[in-house]
Amino acid sequence: MASQNLRTPGPTPLPSAVRDALARDMINHRGPEFAELMHECVDGLKWAFQTQHDLLILTASGSGGLESIVVNTLSPGDKLLAISIGYFGDRLIAIARAFGVDVVPMRLDDGHAADPQQIADALRADPAIQTVFVTHNETSTGVLNPLEAIARAVKETRPEALLLVDGISSVGSVPLQPEEWGMDVVVAGSQKGWMVPPGLAFVSVSPRALERSAQARLPRSYFDWQAHRRSAERGQTPWTPAVGLFFGLQAGLRLMRDEGLERLFERHRQMAAYTRNGLVELDLRLVADSDHASPTVTTAYVPEGINAKELLEALRSRHDVVLAGGQGRLDGKIIRVAHLGWFDQDDLDEALLALRIELNKVRAADSSSPATARA
Ligand SMILES: *Cc1c(COP(=O)(O)O)cnc(C)c1O
Repeated sequence: MASQNLRTPGPTPLPSAVRDALARDMINHRGPEFAELMHECVDGLKWAFQTQHDLLILTASGSGGLESIVVNTLSPGDKLLAISIGYFGDRLIAIARAFGVDVVPMRLDDGHAADPQQIADALRADPAIQTVFVTHNETSTGVLNPLEAIARAVKETRPEALLLVDGISSVGSVPLQPEEWGMDVVVAGSQKGWMVPPGLAFVSVSPRALERSAQARLPRSYFDWQAHRRSAERGQTPWTPAVGLFFGLQAGLRLMRDEGLERLFERHRQMAAYTRNGLVELDLRLVADSDHASPTVTTAYVPEGINAKELLEALRSRHDVVLAGGQGRLDGKIIRVAHLGWFDQDDLDEALLALRIELNKVRAADSSSPATARA
């Protein structure tokens, strides 16, 4: 099979060093080899998260990491201010409600970031809120929230509240500083910027969040942070981990260290700007407010009269370029071009060229059709 130009925001392409690592034979997950492997992975993750907080590795997709933050920090009936700027923010709300949390939702229109002032106002209006959730990078709309300002607003308005962050499509690709900014919990997922297949979730947990988890009373078992912490002291996980993915993670983190965090962040910033310009040159209207455009995924509306599914299928079958479509209410309305993890400008040039060719085709067909008059 010809190799595809996979431009979806997870899974992302794998460098050959990672693929080789994934092919290794198994080791005993209760032996010294695994303890050493886990130690290196935890160290590397702390480096990329820029934190000294506890770092737990769960065998689960990103959503499992999100479930873990709900069940470890909340008790039945607790109020959670959940800020959603899209599909993945809504997912956290759904998880929290499934567990009986009293969610106070704050939803913003697609393409817009959250407003720190509005968050401070919501906290002032409801003294019972002791936990706040926000998405760092909303992958469904390509919007990066102003996380530092949001964290400051929470800290100033309700210093005792825990701040929980979905950083699944940002951590490792976009700067953030858990201690300095005041974030208690941050979740990431292996198939986004880490150059590793899906299956591992990474969670950084502050000392206050650990204290909360010792008291929290929602039902939990597999995702119990306390159990994960106890096992981690022995270089283990409480349940059998996805050992093969740990090998891949080790290789991916080594590549990230070789590149260096600052260069890595800068590459994502530059390539995002490049992609936005490329899409605007194709006369596409961007979804994200330009002040808050994501460094890892760029989104644009599909022009009226063009079928999004057919366009994506033409790109895939004729050009081996795989873009993502819209999710939830944006299904059929937008396309998403990912630029995170292992990629370079050539991958984007190829995707933009394929898009130009296919858009020109449908636009030419449209303007030559006699039925262009609008009803
Ligand atoms: C991908 C993603 C998720 C969901 O992760 P899964 O690994 O698909 O469970 C949640 N939040 C954000 C921001 C994401 O990008």
